Amino acid sequence: MEETQKTTKKIAVVTGASRGIGRAVALELAKAGALVVVNYSGSEEKAEETRQMICEAGGEAVIRQCNVADFEATGEFIGGVIKEFGRIDILVNNAGVTKDGLLMRMKEADFDRVIDINLKGAFNCIRHAAGQMIRQRGGRIVNLSSVVGLNGNAGQANYAASKAGVIGLTKSAAKELASRGITVNAVAPGFINTDMTQALSERVRDEILKQIPMGAYGEPEDVAKLVAFLASDDARYITGQVISIDGGMA
Ligand code: NAP
Repeated sequence: MEETQKTTKKIAVVTGASRGIGRAVALELAKAGALVVVNYSGSEEKAEETRQMICEAGGEAVIRQCNVADFEATGEFIGGVIKEFGRIDILVNNAGVTKDGLLMRMKEADFDRVIDINLKGAFNCIRHAAGQMIRQRGGRIVNLSSVVGLNGNAGQANYAASKAGVIGLTKSAAKELASRGITVNAVAPGFINTDMTQALSERVRDEILKQIPMGAYGEPEDVAKLVAFLASDDARYITGQVISIDGGMA
């Protein structure tokens, strides 16, 4: 059973923290002393697993369901966190999906879905959390972009557009919120070992490997450590940046 109570810890919201990079980020932020709100969309059991991993490591976490593509639901989710804990110190917009296909065959619904979750989802969370961070006169926002948002990729026009959009959102939000002590940065991972990349065929995975100068996929923990740094007090003078973490790809 999860217990919720007022705490002196920093409050960190990580979207899509039931698996993959989001789970690793949630664990890393908890290790750094934050109480983590583990968001998920459909995988309640996996989110609960993340929470238990955090608790076993001596940290604190709660799980909260929300489809970040839904503006109103996101308002209720973020509003609920503020009501419950009184603040939001760190927001990591990590929730993301792919729906790959060549441009000429891509369905409108597949384009919309990827943009709605990956880009509008990040906007929705920032839109609802920024007011509280402004009142606190401080906060850290870290958005997940991708090497694909920087370079493009055949078969991923929707995903590339969403991740390039995240970069524009990051840079604009950084400029608007800097005077309030809020930093907004993006990380652009290359290919990381998660469900998202496991779904690729063996042939595609091998092709990708050839494009990585370091000759290996990254691990979720690699990305988590970078996100945790950007979310820390030590990163107070870094804002509006896109930091690649890709074994030398970009
Ligand atoms: P993943 O293993 O597929 O996990 C995706 C996470 O997003 C899950 O926790 C999922 O929750 C959540 N999610 C999906 N739709 C959602 C929605 N509508 N609302 C809330 N949560 C939702 O993905 P990953 O590889 O860890 O990727 C995490 C982020 O890093 C994504 O933004 C991805 O684009 C980015 N990224 C990944 C790579 C890579 O190589 N893996 C590279 C560059 C960037 P449920 O479990 O409940 O579905």
